[in-house]
Amino acid sequence: MAPKSDKTVGGVRKTTGAKQGVKKSPVKKNVRKDGVRIRKILIANRGEIACRVIRSAKGMGIKTVAIYSEADRDALHVIEADEAVCVGPAPSAQSYLNIAAVIAAIKKTGADAVHPGYGFLSENAAFCRRLKREGVTFIGPDPRAIKAMGDKIESKRLAEKAGVSTVPGFDGALRDTDHAIEVAAAIGYPVMIKASAGGGGKGMRIARDEADVREGFPAAVREAKSGFGDDRVFIEKYIENPRHIEIQIMADRQGNIVHFGERECSIQRRHQKVVEEAPSPFITPETRRAMGAQAVALARAVDYVSAGTVEFIVDQRQNFYFLEMNTRLQVEHPVTELVYGVDLVDLMIRVAQGAPLGIVQKNIRPKGWAIETRIYAEDPFRGFLPSVGRLVRYRAPGEEGGVRVDSGVYEGGEISIHYDPMIAKLITYGETRALAIARMRLALDAFYIRGVRHNIAFLAALVGHPRFNEGRLSTDFIVEEYPDGFSSADVVHDDPVILDIVAVCMHRAYQARAAQISGQWANHERAVRDDWVILAPGRRTRATARIVEGGFEVAVGKKTHRVVTTWRLGEGMFEARINDAFYCVQVERLNVGYRLINSGSEADIRVLSERAAHLSGLMVDKPGRDVSNLLISPMPGLLVDLRVDVGQSVKAGDEIAVIEAMKMENVLRADKDGVVKTVHAQKGESLRVDQTIVEFV
Ligand code: ADP
Ligand code: ADP
Ligand code: MG
Repeated sequence: MAPKSDKTVGGVRKTTGAKQGVKKSPVKKNVRKDGVRIRKILIANRGEIACRVIRSAKGMGIKTVAIYSEADRDALHVIEADEAVCVGPAPSAQSYLNIAAVIAAIKKTGADAVHPGYGFLSENAAFCRRLKREGVTFIGPDPRAIKAMGDKIESKRLAEKAGVSTVPGFDGALRDTDHAIEVAAAIGYPVMIKASAGGGGKGMRIARDEADVREGFPAAVREAKSGFGDDRVFIEKYIENPRHIEIQIMADRQGNIVHFGERECSIQRRHQKVVEEAPSPFITPETRRAMGAQAVALARAVDYVSAGTVEFIVDQRQNFYFLEMNTRLQVEHPVTELVYGVDLVDLMIRVAQGAPLGIVQKNIRPKGWAIETRIYAEDPFRGFLPSVGRLVRYRAPGEEGGVRVDSGVYEGGEISIHYDPMIAKLITYGETRALAIARMRLALDAFYIRGVRHNIAFLAALVGHPRFNEGRLSTDFIVEEYPDGFSSADVVHDDPVILDIVAVCMHRAYQARAAQISGQWANHERAVRDDWVILAPGRRTRATARIVEGGFEVAVGKKTHRVVTTWRLGEGMFEARINDAFYCVQVERLNVGYRLINSGSEADIRVLSERAAHLSGLMVDKPGRDVSNLLISPMPGLLVDLRVDVGQSVKAGDEIAVIEAMKMENVLRADKDGVVKTVHAQKGESLRVDQTIVEFV
């Protein structure tokens, strides 16, 4: 649909809804004569997506019911819904996936419809059929389409029949390792081993030769079984250096099917999307039309209703191949909403009520650019290990000027070991890709999270990367650009003098206060000194600072800088206009010096008098506890595998243990070569954080 109103606020179309960029769909008629009227929606999900659905439902005047597990008693979605029902203990299998408990919650509250969000029961045909029997509307496709598309083997067959181009490869389940080797050889290496019921990038392995299949096939089967309760695995050709581009579909019960263009989700880690955008900077209008037409044809072949996504893998020559169809709302749907000025949840609810879409393809046009980054509770500097704990501080950037935050947490809330480690999604919009990226960089700088580890530095590095800015993406981007993992060397600030300037301003402000408070130690100099030496990793510079109207005047080396800011002592965010640009620097006062975080990089900077700087050069750093000969559990979790015995020699990088936590198998590797002295934990044991697993000689 062409946007009706072109009024813009900070680059984002002005909207009537509570949330920027989410516009009520233009469908006027709410209910068809033979349709249903939804009065109360139960959201069978948690976290940001539950909050997202609640927002649209409220905007339509529909009541909402949250369900929650015992671990989520105080979660944001519970607070935001009109009513909430506990559906069981913390583990998802006993709560969010417990169909009987969800049905009981529906009966108890009189909800007449269910929105499943993504994950959990969203692609569960049995749940869908059960709702039908109970006379409850499922806000999504019919069970037949879910079942057909939920299975990768079956959906590939269907896609081929509908004239959709599919990845070359065998389309049946494999019997055993030997069968897998035989099939792989016939397709030609490299191949991809995949779970038919897979999702979330799990149960998937690249195999470049027979040895890889021999090792990867049983692992894929195991992950498929534990992750999806279905151990069928198949093989297809591995497309080298591809891009992931998907089409957003929307269909009504009258047989109208449209698409809202594409999203590119090529920035992935372990086949999990990390950064997504719309449109794609890669495909031509012809490719877009061809992909859209095939996606619509596939949807038509399964009588699709509601929102769905047809995923394609696209090679560097724009050949595209069907991967799978996700029969639900997708995590990254907001980028489409911003670019097409549409509220997909609102549309899903309307078509579930039987209303026609009321839009035709030729009126659906993209406008501008949107980017989403997924903020996860994981430590990019420690192999992306998930992190749990309390969000001691949580401040999302303000939602103005083309920024949208979809979040399911609040300050003081808990990131639990039981669920997916996603904290929030940050989405920015701009008329151009460059503007959307610039806004993303600033918004990431302004995202303030303490208490759990998070991946903001990594996201900042990605969206600041020259190759990302040029749009030269591929699903191998992360492994190619960070082949040895991510480290602080990957987030060198491109203009470190900005950090020096902020440190000097802070120091000036603290000195001024110290001078005012009589009896404080800094007072012995009687006046505030302002000729300093900045000591930062790898840098030693002279600096001075003066407090002036509206901020500071700072000299670093020979250059003078004007800093306009309203920052006050103690504030964690130093927002300032420095010379001609706006910055958002996260600041912390340390025992000696300041910690500054900006643009993904973190620097400890000291501002000292000449004499103190000289003396500090003579100090020796106190070493911490030596744990270099221990393998320590970085998180609480289940030790699912231990691959070494006492006396065994290991090489740096060898897999030592596998810990299952937050729905992921996390492999712990040896830091360096060594010999196992003692094994302190057993396979199957529940580990505490920091528990010693193995000690090396
Ligand atoms: P989408 O296709 O909607 O973008 P993904 O492909 O990233 O979502 O993930 C597919 C499914 O896996 C989603 O339903 C989501 O709930 C789930 N998922 C997302 N992140 C994780 C994770 N870190 N671990 C396990 N499952 C996840
Ligand atoms: P999931 O259900 O886990 O989302 P998909 O089939 O959608 O599984 O694949 C997820 C990701 O894995 C893709 O986005 C892509 O990066 C990679 N992938 C899957 N199949 C192939 C393939 N045949 N060749 C290359 N990469 C692939
Ligand atoms: Mg997928």
